[in-house]
This record gives sequence, C-alpha cells and structure tokens, in this order.
Amino acid sequence: MAASSNSSLSGSSVSSDAEEYQPPIWKSYLYQLQQEAPRPKRIICPGEVENRPKYYGREFHGIISREQADELLGGVEGAYILRESQRQPGCYTLALRFGNQTLNYRLFYDGKHFVGEKRFESIHDLVTDGLITLYVETKASEYISKMTTNPIYEHIGYATLLREKVSRRLSRSKNESRKTSVANEEHTAVEKISSLVRRAALTHNDNHFNYEKTHNFKVHTFRGPHWCEYCANFMWGLIAQGVRCSDCGLNVHKQCSKHVPNDCQPDLKRIKKVYCCDLTTLVKAHNTQRPMVVDICIREIEARGLKSEGLYRVSGFTEHIEDVKMAFDRDGEKADISANIYPDINIITGALKLYFRDLPIPVITYDTYPKFIEAAKISNADERLEAVHEVLMLLPPAHYETLRYLMIHLKKVTLNEKDNFMNAENLGIVFGPTLMRSPEDSTLTTLQDMRYQKLIVQILIENEDVLF
Ligand SMILES: [Zn+2]
Ligand SMILES: [Zn+2]
Repeated sequence: MAASSNSSLSGSSVSSDAEEYQPPIWKSYLYQLQQEAPRPKRIICPGEVENRPKYYGREFHGIISREQADELLGGVEGAYILRESQRQPGCYTLALRFGNQTLNYRLFYDGKHFVGEKRFESIHDLVTDGLITLYVETKASEYISKMTTNPIYEHIGYATLLREKVSRRLSRSKNESRKTSVANEEHTAVEKISSLVRRAALTHNDNHFNYEKTHNFKVHTFRGPHWCEYCANFMWGLIAQGVRCSDCGLNVHKQCSKHVPNDCQPDLKRIKKVYCCDLTTLVKAHNTQRPMVVDICIREIEARGLKSEGLYRVSGFTEHIEDVKMAFDRDGEKADISANIYPDINIITGALKLYFRDLPIPVITYDTYPKFIEAAKISNADERLEAVHEVLMLLPPAHYETLRYLMIHLKKVTLNEKDNFMNAENLGIVFGPTLMRSPEDSTLTTLQDMRYQKLIVQILIENEDVLF
C-alpha cells in the first residue's frame, strides 16, 4: 500500500486524527542519489615519485600520459589519480573515472585544493564531492532544473524549528498585554496548529510589521544531511551545499535562493548588535515599527524638555555616548538611559546621532542619495519640494517611517528655538551628514554635497507636515 506524497497530503483532510498527522514534506530522491554516488578509490603509485608536491599524497603518479593514466584507473567508477602535465610541467591534473569515461580536471592549490569554486582541505574530499555532484546532477538534471517551479516553501518554511520559534515569539508579544490565562491558552493553540496553516497565522498577526526584508544569503557548508526549505529537496554535496540566511537561518539551494520572497524574519539571537545593524533587519528582529533606539532616545529627550541650549549641536562626552551604545547592544529595549545615569542630555542626543551614523546603509539610502541631491539643486522652491516628495516615496518603508518620526521630533525642537537656539538650518548642518552619505567614497564629493545634504534635512523639517 504505497501512497504517493500527494495522495497522503490530501488524505490528511479526511483523517480522523488530522491534528496529529504529519504529511511527508521532505523529498528524499536526491538524498538517495547521493547515497548511490560512486565512492572515491585512490590509486596509489607503487614507487617514489620525484618532484611530488608536498601537498599531494601517493595518488600522485608524476609525469604520465593520458593513456597511461587510463590504464592505471582500470575502468573502475570513482577511481582517481593525480598526474603532472606532459605538455605543461608544473600543471597538475586530476584524472577521475565517472560514467565509464576518464574525466580530466586541471587542479589548483592555494592552501586548499580546487578545480572550480569550491575549496577543499583534501583531495579525497574534493573527489568525494565531485563524484556526488557529477552523479546527482547527471542522473537528476531534469528533476533539478524543475525543482524550483513547484515550491512548497509556504508550508515547509514554517514547519522547521526556527519558524516555530518565530511564531511562538510573535504570539507571545501579541498576547503580552492580555491576561496570562488567555495568553497561555492561545500559546498552546498556536503550538497545536499544523505547519500548513502556521504561515497564515503569521500573516494575520496584527502585531507583525509588514516591512519587506530580503534574506541575507551566504554560501554555507552544512554538517550532516540538510534539506532545502524552499523546494523541500535534499542539498547534495560534501561542502557548500547551499546558502543560509545569516539573519533568520533559512537554508535553501543556491538556485532556490533566487525565488525566495523578501520575507526574512530575523532571529533576535542571530542579531548580535543594535548599533551597526541594518535598519530593516533590526526592526524586523524586534518586531517594532522603527528602530527601538530611535523611539527610546526621542522619548527621553522630549521628556526632559527641548529647551537645552544647542540641542543636538553640543556634543556630549564620547566615552559616555559609547556607554549608551553598549547599553543598547547589551540590554536592548531594557537599556536604562534615564537622567539618574546620564544627567547630560547631550549624551542622549549624541547616542541617537551615533546610531544613525553607524548604520551600514544610511536612513537616506545609497540608492536614493543621488536623487535627493538632484532634487536639492532645483532652484524653484515648489518644484524642489515636489521632487523631494517623490524621492521620499522610494525609501524602504522602515527607513521612511524612521525619517518621518525623526522629522516630527526635530520640528518640535525648532518650536523651542528661543530657548535652544536651534532652527531647521542648524539642525540641517548637524543631521545632513548623519542621515545622508554619498555612495561614492570621495572627500571631494562629500564636500561638494554638504550644502545639499543640509538643505534636504532643512526642507524635511520645515515641511514635515506636508511631506510625510
Ligand atoms: Zn532571512
Ligand atoms: Zn531548493
């Protein structure tokens, strides 16, 4: 009674015990192929070979012809030797039996062995991986080319441990304000929903700010067998089998990574710092509308009144500002920046400015920067304002929201000008280079652009009410 995975999926809806039923989601075909792949068989040279590079072992046979190599391999699948090229001494070749023929690869060494992109500690590893790759990609070439077309990412992405953690975390923050008993009930309920509807539960969570965020995929070597969380297929090979998102931990094939939607939900544990972390990544990780540093600092500054002379212009002690930064990195939203600890308000304004300066991508992104500068150069004030408004719409939503919130605050600062002596122009000088950085790293451009940066911030503050 062999049921295909499709029929068992639909069968789950009529099952009397639907909640317990776990449909088989991970596809084992490519895993089985990897298991079947020929194993490396090292053919050892019986005698000592002169000029053997010290990073090669006895599989090195010196200068021999292709024909001699063929003979040594004896038609055994997976058999391999190394030889030095007859025509180009100093160049080395891996001769490998696969698919009833001898394949020859130019072999390189730079501390690690490689024939292509992947680098290996040993020749044995290189050959093992090569045989797996050749076997799987030859046998299943059609299957592999089609495996991304029918993703079940929506289901399986959230079936993993990681996603369960995310959904639990989100459900916890959602329930925080409610009575504990209710929260407990819902908590259990969330755990019980099958993986297939968990995605829907996440999407409908109203406390989940819906900023798009791209995954931060990096080539990854998985220890032990791993399956792609996009297409549900095995990730074959010995090393660099796929890519992993360093923000949320999603594991997928390199080819599948191009199809994954921009729905990265960073894991707080993976986000080590608050400062120097990408803005959208931070707000997604904390599940907030804006970076919490911005909210906390602005709340504190406004609570102390905005009358301090030279607010934002006067700098506080660098050491104390670094202290605040460390407190945020260490304690997150629990960081204590109250007047008991930092009586000088310029420490708090300094910490906020530092947060913006430390962003890997400024609030006004590198992409939009040239467009803002162009807009600033327009001489007609109405046209200029219109142009600024248009570029603002191009900002990523989390950046836009942060800028909007900051400008409302800075407008309040200017309303206290008779006490703090800070108008929109002064604040433009302070915040221009903090919020905007030229994508070109040249001193000349920076100097040339400074007046336009100042002007943009001044325009944003003065027109905060119409622009946002
Ligand atoms: Zn991600
Ligand atoms: Zn995949």
